[in-house]
Amino acid sequence: SVPAAILSALSAAARGGVLFKGGGALETLAEVDIFAFDKTGTLTTGRAAVTRLVALDGDQAGFLSLLSGLEAHSEHHIAAAIHREALARDLQPVAVTDVNARPGIGIEGRDASGPVWAGNPYLAQAMGAPLDHPALQSLAEGADTVVYLGRGAQVLGAVTVADAPRGSSAPALAALRKGGVRRIVMMTGDRRPVALRIGTQLGLAPDEIHAEMLPEDKVRAVGALTDSGKVAFVGDGVNDAAALARADIGIAMGAAGSEVALQAADVALLSEDMERLADAQRLSRRTSRVIR
Ligand code: ADP
Ligand code: MG
Repeated sequence: SVPAAILSALSAAARGGVLFKGGGALETLAEVDIFAFDKTGTLTTGRAAVTRLVALDGDQAGFLSLLSGLEAHSEHHIAAAIHREALARDLQPVAVTDVNARPGIGIEGRDASGPVWAGNPYLAQAMGAPLDHPALQSLAEGADTVVYLGRGAQVLGAVTVADAPRGSSAPALAALRKGGVRRIVMMTGDRRPVALRIGTQLGLAPDEIHAEMLPEDKVRAVGALTDSGKVAFVGDGVNDAAALARADIGIAMGAAGSEVALQAADVALLSEDMERLADAQRLSRRTSRVIR
């Protein structure tokens, strides 16, 4: 049977918006000395905005209508940002069918003229689409996320999307360190300049910031960390599910996170306030001391 001290800690944590799937997860959290965080939607708010738009044929409205039609089928934060931009410009999304999400790289589908896709440089490369147009290169020089839209091997243009750290992220990381966490690592599928901008804003060491990771890269990196400590992975996306499962303890963002991430995790963080995570670890440590 579960000791009373654990039951009461589980319910105290739940009142703070941290749901443990069992007493075992609470005991594991007490031992965690390495935290690995996803970036988008985890350390950042996920409430991104479109900052720049380049349509190579000059038809911005046509470009954004197609992009938003494709992204209408995605639950990614990027998709929501694109949807809001299309709404703000009074644009109707183009009908897109046969949609196939590519977690961590983008999305594919088909409009009336044939196959279309939207995503990062990996996806563009997989489509055989060159990104060497000067207007596209200028977007990639900034520190925002770049989303390319293409038709087969042809790139139609790109938008940049920017997101900011949660206000609670820096204090939460500081509290985790104060509680004895030795390493805090960021793992993102996003570009390195974006990862470095957000990571350094949060006080992470540059060598703890890992970018351009595919979902399987996150799994491998989490596995490698488990050789040197007890590892928690905190993430929100479909692309994080395998890493959440691989960590000693997986913690999913519950409010806006994906269903798949929640299922793979041991803990759901229902609060948007990252400091609740540090509170939960403090609570787990106190509880472990009491029951030993
Ligand atoms: P993170 O690891 O920071 O949470 P993701 O792994 O979810 O980021 O996404 C990695 C990258 O894949 C994004 O920065 C984006 O370039 C691309 N991507 C993922 N999903 C989509 C989508 N629906 N549309 C366009 N690009 C996407
Ligand atoms: Mg994410």
